[in-house]
Amino acid sequence: MNPDEIYTPSKSLRKRVLRRLVPYRQQRLLNFKIDRPIVSFSFDDCPKSAVKNGLHKLDKEGWKSTVYIASKLLGITNHLGLHMDELDVTDAHNSGHEIGGHSYSHMDLTEMPLDCAIEDVLKNRDIIRSLKIPRCRTFAYPYGQTSAEVKKHLSKEYDGLRGIISGPMIGRVDLNQIQSTPLFTGKCFEEVLHQINGLSGQNAWLTLFTHDVRESPSEWGCTPAEIDTVIAAVKASGAEVLTVSDAITKLKANSL
Ligand SMILES: [Zn+2]
Repeated sequence: MNPDEIYTPSKSLRKRVLRRLVPYRQQRLLNFKIDRPIVSFSFDDCPKSAVKNGLHKLDKEGWKSTVYIASKLLGITNHLGLHMDELDVTDAHNSGHEIGGHSYSHMDLTEMPLDCAIEDVLKNRDIIRSLKIPRCRTFAYPYGQTSAEVKKHLSKEYDGLRGIISGPMIGRVDLNQIQSTPLFTGKCFEEVLHQINGLSGQNAWLTLFTHDVRESPSEWGCTPAEIDTVIAAVKASGAEVLTVSDAITKLKANSL
């Protein structure tokens, strides 16, 4: 795909039906009981603007995020702006952020033969390993798109697989399709605040995902001021902030 081309997953009736059904297939359920809610921030792809305006803001709070890298995008510029390069990835890792897998070519894994999809995911894993970064423990499906077959294969490789279904996970998570709420500018933004504000005292895990963080962001990103608002809301909620993999470790230690 041309990097300037914006891909949108198919909206055909068949695909929409499959998308409704896939969360119920190949589940890896974990029931948990925690006394304090958990929030995980994730940055997908990953645009360079997320470093200064996202990761560094979290660093100031003593919080760490998960950065989902699709290594074919390293150093390129597309509708999300300039992307992180190899040095940005190693810097993020060295400062304690989790580096997660997001496939090599950032293609919709449900639109390619399964063996090609797995090969693409493993190619990305190997490139990240070549940067002297430990094995990725978690993965985010490009465009949130997955299938029962993809889930089944990737569940052997990763402790957790993140999708893009919005909402907090209360007392239970499907580690093969971890929910994640868009931290996007515009009309979605009130919803993310609503979900964070509802976390206080809940036995819940909420993951957030975004892309570029800059003034005039894409519709898949947010502004630096919006990140500040979210950070303040998370603090007020009393939630603990953990990377996706650390959250999984904690939930497993508190499983029912
Ligand atoms: Zn992505």
